Amino acid sequence: MRVEMEFLGSGTSSGIPTIGCDCRVCHSANPRNKRLRSSILFRVGEGEDERRLLVDVTPDVRMQALRANLSSVHGVLITHTHADHCHGLDDLRGLYWGGGRERLQLFAYPESLAQLRRAFGYLFDEDYDYKGIARFDTHVFEHEPFVVAGVAVTPIPVVHGNMRVAGFRVGDCAYITDTNEVPDTSIAKLKGVRLLILDALRRAPHPTHLSLGKALHIAQQVGVERVFFTHINHDLEHDQINAELPAWARLGHDMLRVAIEADGRISTDEGGGGVAPLAF
Ligand SMILES: [Zn+2]
Ligand SMILES: [Zn+2]
Ligand SMILES: [Zn+2]
Repeated sequence: MRVEMEFLGSGTSSGIPTIGCDCRVCHSANPRNKRLRSSILFRVGEGEDERRLLVDVTPDVRMQALRANLSSVHGVLITHTHADHCHGLDDLRGLYWGGGRERLQLFAYPESLAQLRRAFGYLFDEDYDYKGIARFDTHVFEHEPFVVAGVAVTPIPVVHGNMRVAGFRVGDCAYITDTNEVPDTSIAKLKGVRLLILDALRRAPHPTHLSLGKALHIAQQVGVERVFFTHINHDLEHDQINAELPAWARLGHDMLRVAIEADGRISTDEGGGGVAPLAF
């Protein structure tokens, strides 16, 4: 079955350009250097059977859904509850309406769901009498794979400072953002993954994110065929860094679509689409 990962955003928590920053990447004319907050869409299967799983709900989710021509999803997966990954939750009402007001299926670690209930109490209050909000069915996961609209998803726990973050594996594709350490037990869960999207914040080490060098090392440990990096900050200029990377590794960029096709071929639209159509 075809599994695609579409970059809805590839930027670090502030987004790139960053408010008030005068650096050359924030001022770059290259659209590949314009990065909304990190999020992807899994598209599994094709045509009528396509299942769409949204990973994270960033403060940019409205713009991300519009430019991806996305009007409904079959599930929403939460990696963790830092603001850049979940503060667009209210704007999911657009996808709730687009999905015919069928309740959105929301999947998260128990502690993430508890935090969302604290931060967005009204969205989970069945007695809240207001039609202008999304409605959710909530589901928690731990270590075992779970099924969303017929799609098997394996959670991959990774370390992010003092918290855990969920990566997600679907078939031989995986998405891992916001981590400074991928434990050996999680490397084992990633064995067989051919196409990986992985956190790589910048060149220099960081206490809660992978550096470019460390991310390359982890991709090699897993043994992937292709890796694309995400959650990128303004130290990394798209074309310059890609010229330095080995051929199997690339910086991701907003709207890039990478997939394992039904025949097993890995396809990407690098050099093709991926130019952000919305001006900043
Ligand atoms: Zn983040
Ligand atoms: Zn900057
Ligand atoms: Zn985070």
